[in-house]
Amino acid sequence: MVDSAIEHVKILEDLDYTNMLISLKSSDVKATIEAYRLMSKTVNYPLHLGITHSGTFLTGTIKSAMGLGGLLADGIGDTVRVSLTADSKEEIKVAKEILSGLDLRTFGIKYITCPTCGRTRINIIELSQKIQSALERINKPITVAIMGCAVNGPGEAKEADIGIAGGIGEALLFKKGEIICKIKEENIIETLVNEISKM
Ligand code: SF4
Repeated sequence: MVDSAIEHVKILEDLDYTNMLISLKSSDVKATIEAYRLMSKTVNYPLHLGITHSGTFLTGTIKSAMGLGGLLADGIGDTVRVSLTADSKEEIKVAKEILSGLDLRTFGIKYITCPTCGRTRINIIELSQKIQSALERINKPITVAIMGCAVNGPGEAKEADIGIAGGIGEALLFKKGEIICKIKEENIIETLVNEISKM
């Protein structure tokens, strides 16, 4: 793949044309990573990253995150494309998550969500989805934590700008690890949205 691409680069260079961007897409993650690593050492043109035919939403997201994420973390890659057998809007969301996960770009709110454990006192999966939907249109670089218990939640997410830690029928609202107030479960989303709007 790399040899073939370099041949084509030479054809263009022989025509004094250098305004190019190179793509070496494959559906094989390891082959893609190795090809781009080799290409980045061989030529000095911008590289367009992608795992092609990567699969359905879950498989394709994981393969794209591994391939694109691994290369971007090494400083390789200038543009990206996520290709999923899914709604094309999902491709954009996945690409944004890959870039923001590496702090290469920010696209609004970043989330810290607890993975749940025996201490979880609230339906954190449902709550996380509802909070993320409610805050979807906020385009500020704020870190929001959604934690499952008041014992460890505020401390585990102390780097978050704001967050909630669930209890039974209620939650604690905290900012930078400091507890601000207690809120009833039915008011969690409204209170969080209001507080974030003030920020
Ligand atoms: S925040 Fe609480 S519920 Fe969530 S993982 Fe940590 S200890 Fe468990």
